[in-house]
Amino acid sequence: MDRSSLLDSRLILALDFPQANVKDILEGLKGLVVGVKVGFPLALELGWEGIEQLISKFPDYYWIADFKLADIPDIVSHILKRFERIGFDSAIIHLFTGHRTYDVSLELIGVAGMSHPEAWLVRENFMKLLESASLLRIQGIVVGATRPEMIREARRKLPTIRIFSPGIGFQGARPGSALQAGANYEIVGRSILRSDDPIKAAEEIVRAQRGVLHGC
Ligand code: C5P
Repeated sequence: MDRSSLLDSRLILALDFPQANVKDILEGLKGLVVGVKVGFPLALELGWEGIEQLISKFPDYYWIADFKLADIPDIVSHILKRFERIGFDSAIIHLFTGHRTYDVSLELIGVAGMSHPEAWLVRENFMKLLESASLLRIQGIVVGATRPEMIREARRKLPTIRIFSPGIGFQGARPGSALQAGANYEIVGRSILRSDDPIKAAEEIVRAQRGVLHGC
């Protein structure tokens, strides 16, 4: 993502909770945020057309479809093609369903780790999920920032894959800590969107990231 070096930012916004001022927030965050992750909460609120309009209004963001797909390959393939037409740049898929490669130009990001404490089943199969990511030859994986040792392990095993880390702020991890462990991007939702001043909250996160990246 060229935009991350242009902005000197590794911040991705999890646009989970629909709010009235969503367009103002996206406008205000243009100089700070590299990408926007959208999932069911927003899709249920805005509908697919609403999401398509939002993406076309803010085409510079890297748009991630976070619907954690886990169906049979033909269905996943169909959905991915539809996501492409909506304007998404990438989509998150589950890795436990097999190693089928998909004929799409959309980038694929696999769930290798989940940041909430109850995700023991995912955690116990972490190495196998990394293996699955490697066999699928996908562009990215998700590994939670609350487990930096898992980010380090993923980076060791898959040196060139892009690692996306949620879990910053509300879930406990410090801004910049996932980058320090080897992640490429930090995904942040509530710490920005529930703040009284979302722009300032994003600025503080990006400042912490630059501290890690440039050692200042
Ligand atoms: O609000 P918060 O910053 O905790 O949001 C984290 C986002 O990352 C949510 O959209 C959540 O669905 C997502 N996520 C996560 N852990 C994963 C995968 C995705 O928290 N392993």
